[in-house]
Order: sequence, then C-alpha cells, then structure tokens
Amino acid sequence: MNCLFCKIIAGQIPSTKVYEDETVYAFRDINPQAPTHILVVPKAHIADCNGINAENSAVVAHIFEVISQLAEHEGLENGYRVISNCGPDGCQSVHHLHFHLLAGRYLQWPPG
Ligand code: 5GP
Ligand code: ZN
Repeated sequence: MNCLFCKIIAGQIPSTKVYEDETVYAFRDINPQAPTHILVVPKAHIADCNGINAENSAVVAHIFEVISQLAEHEGLENGYRVISNCGPDGCQSVHHLHFHLLAGRYLQWPPG
C-alpha cells in the first residue's frame, strides 16, 4: 500500500520513534507545531476516524492509554492537546489514522 505512515511503521522511511508496541507506533512530527509534537498511530492501516468500527476500535482505546503514558514520560504536567484531523475541512493530509499529541506551549482554543 502506498501509505506514508505504513512505510514509516515498516521502517522504510526513517522516523524519530518515541514508542512502539504490537499495535501502536509513535514518532515525532517532522514539522512540529509545538515544542512537543508526537504522532500516535495504529500499526494497522485505518484511513481516518471514519474507518473506526467495532472490529478495530480497541486500538483507539489503547492509543489513548499510550498517550497518557507519553504525557507522563514527556513531562507534560501543564497539559496537552490530542487532535485527529479528518477529511478536507479537518485539514487531514496523511490518510492513515493518527493522533497529534501537542504540548509545551499555550494552545489557543478554538483552533483556527
Ligand atoms: P495531518 O495533516 O494529516 O493531520 O497530519 C499529518 C502530519 O504528518 C503533519 O503534521 C506532518 O507534519 C506530518 N508528516 C508528514 N510527513 C511526515 C514524515 O515523513 N515524517 C514525519 N515524522 N511526519 C510527517
Ligand atoms: Zn497506512
């Protein structure tokens, strides 16, 4: 499959890995929007939030467990934001489900 994040997970494209287990991979965003900007992705290809269903949703729960561990490991005591962009209006650019973990500066709300 011609998917950038599948290639990163497979090690065909280098990335700065921060966490990996059987079902989840996390790595630093190449174009960080905050001092901490980590992408947390399922290893199985799911295109976007609309691809989450009863068969594959357990990995999403696990991703949020990983995010909680990463927040502790990265020292994000002051808070953080988790975002999954979906579709054109959501500004999704890579069509493999991913959760942005952003922290290290004050994050405006609502986002632009
Ligand atoms: P989206 O816009 O789909 O929500 O997020 C895709 C993210 O992937 C962007 O924040 C972008 O900077 C990041 N990205 C795109 N290509 C690469 C890459 O080759 N390596 C890494 N580490 N991040 C990437
Ligand atoms: Zn993929």
